[in-house]
Amino acid sequence: MSVIVLGSVNMDVVLSVEALPKAGETIAASAQNLYPGGKGANQAIASARCGAPTAFFGAVGDDDYGAVLSRNLEDNGIDTRGLKVLAGKRTGQASIYVSATGENSIVILSGANHDFVFDDDGGPMPVPAGAAVRLAQFEMPLAAIRAFFDVPGGDAGTRILNPAPALPEGRPLLDLADILVVNETELATYAGAPVNGDPSPEAVIALAHGLLSRPDQWVVVTLGARGLVAVGSGDKISIGGLATEVVDTTGAGDCFCGALAARLSAGEPLSDALGFANAAASIAVSRRGAGSSMPTLQEVVARLG
Ligand code: ADP
Repeated sequence: MSVIVLGSVNMDVVLSVEALPKAGETIAASAQNLYPGGKGANQAIASARCGAPTAFFGAVGDDDYGAVLSRNLEDNGIDTRGLKVLAGKRTGQASIYVSATGENSIVILSGANHDFVFDDDGGPMPVPAGAAVRLAQFEMPLAAIRAFFDVPGGDAGTRILNPAPALPEGRPLLDLADILVVNETELATYAGAPVNGDPSPEAVIALAHGLLSRPDQWVVVTLGARGLVAVGSGDKISIGGLATEVVDTTGAGDCFCGALAARLSAGEPLSDALGFANAAASIAVSRRGAGSSMPTLQEVVARLG
């Protein structure tokens, strides 16, 4: 039983500033912090810390950040044989300015993530067969995600897709997933509806229903502090958010997806796995950083009481 994650790996370079710079302005930063990031790597770390044997497929460049991020995945017990080191490419990077009031502006260099392909030499995709769960997001080439999910003979296990960031051109891939995990912004994009303030629970459920393409598919909508709602063709699960002191919500959705994958790969029913993921993400938002904020199995079990 295991989880395979296909996804991005980035270094988040965070500069603390008094106020965000305007065009043409030069300002001083008070601090620089480096945090391991990238949705794929964050989700793999959450999965591994929540107890699932986890393998990672992705790409870094042959630079210092790539070496640090690769070691960080290994230190979390993740199988990195599927992590390619691409010669002459830059490792993915997010340059983030955070102001004293908590506003941010972010520029992402996709770098090596963008150049990931499974089969350089036309050979078969080297993904181990028989994994219980496959998990992907949208910070990778869509062709690679299609190859990852579209496995002949139905041998893909449970396919969880977190189509984030919202990419309208990725819409056809949603039908390949067994479980979709979207936040409210992504839901609005794929359901083709505008985000009007705080949509009612009924409106969210109706939009989620519209994304279902098969009777056995589920759409999970994460609702921030309000928890989640999951919609299947004949069923619905609602779980409220757990009260927590919020420090940094970066990576909340990533924690949720990785923890969900881990519990499903251990054979837990969907409703229990969703409750676990909700508790795991409530811990992640109480800590700074993304990859570094992911909780362990023991911490989530203690949180669930
Ligand atoms: P994203 O990070 O992708 O925007 P959400 O904001 O919906 O996703 O958060 C994902 C999950 O993280 C939620 O479903 C919930 O389990 C948890 N979460 C997020 N914010 C909070 C919060 N303020 N309090 C408790 N849990 C939270």
